[in-house]
Amino acid sequence: MKHGRWLSLPLALALLAAPALAQNNNDASKVKLGVVQVAPGISVIEGVEGFAGGNVGVSVGPDGMFIIDDELEMMSAKLQAELAKLSKSPVRFVINTHHHGDHAGGNAAFGSKGAVILAHDNVRQRLSVAELEQAKDKVVAKPGLGLPVVTFAQDVTLHLNGDTVHVFHVPPAHTDGDVVVHFTKANVIHTGDLFLSSGYPFVDRKSGGNFEGFITAADAILAKCNDSTRVIPGHGKVVGRKELAAWRDRLEQIRQRVAKLIRQGKTLEQIIAAKPTADLDAQAGSNFIKPDAIVEAAYSSLAAGGKGGKPAHKHH
Ligand SMILES: [Zn+2]
Repeated sequence: MKHGRWLSLPLALALLAAPALAQNNNDASKVKLGVVQVAPGISVIEGVEGFAGGNVGVSVGPDGMFIIDDELEMMSAKLQAELAKLSKSPVRFVINTHHHGDHAGGNAAFGSKGAVILAHDNVRQRLSVAELEQAKDKVVAKPGLGLPVVTFAQDVTLHLNGDTVHVFHVPPAHTDGDVVVHFTKANVIHTGDLFLSSGYPFVDRKSGGNFEGFITAADAILAKCNDSTRVIPGHGKVVGRKELAAWRDRLEQIRQRVAKLIRQGKTLEQIIAAKPTADLDAQAGSNFIKPDAIVEAAYSSLAAGGKGGKPAHKHH
């Protein structure tokens, strides 16, 4: 992949901060989607040109089609066109990995065609709030259609297309409504934005996100992986267990280094100035999350009582 550059900074921040808003500034005609097969019956639809949203997982088989995440709202027509190439059947289920507009923006388009949307309880909650805010601004005309209709607090299992698909929540990381989707037979995992193969993660603290949660989440995902597992990240190319493990270890190093500087009494400004991630930045790849932002996110998690900042910590 050219440069792991999937969204411009202002657009990305606008989308992450205000799901489903700000999308009209983008131009769908400049975005191209492509399909990559991951396993028999399982594909990913990813952006190959322009500012696409998150990776869409697709399962096709005897029970029909279901998808994981549904792109930016403005991409709904193009996404449906790609899906039609994979199957003539309509989308039966949509699983939202979290509420951000670059992953759940197509909910209204698919919900209105009869797809059942599943998500963590907090995703419905956050989308409801976003919907109310937009309704106030008269941006949204059809309330309700984009909201998940089946929600859960911990996990849910789908028995479809010959697989057992375990969808499980992890403690707050990217947001407080993140889920991982595990095709237990096909050995494929969609991580949503709990993992990006193209750079440092975005900790959406306004949506309950927490830096250290990414390490916990990566550990939970790695526990389900072996050397043949295909890992679909929220953005970026499909990779394997090794790449996820290396990514997790970089975050762990950042945690330890920032924790050490906190224990030395350094302020956030001093810690950022010390550039504790300098040797890791190149390996992390390039996306819109800059080293300063990840250091600040680590600091805020640790300063709030995370594992490295204080001796005792809670077990989940
Ligand atoms: Zn996201």
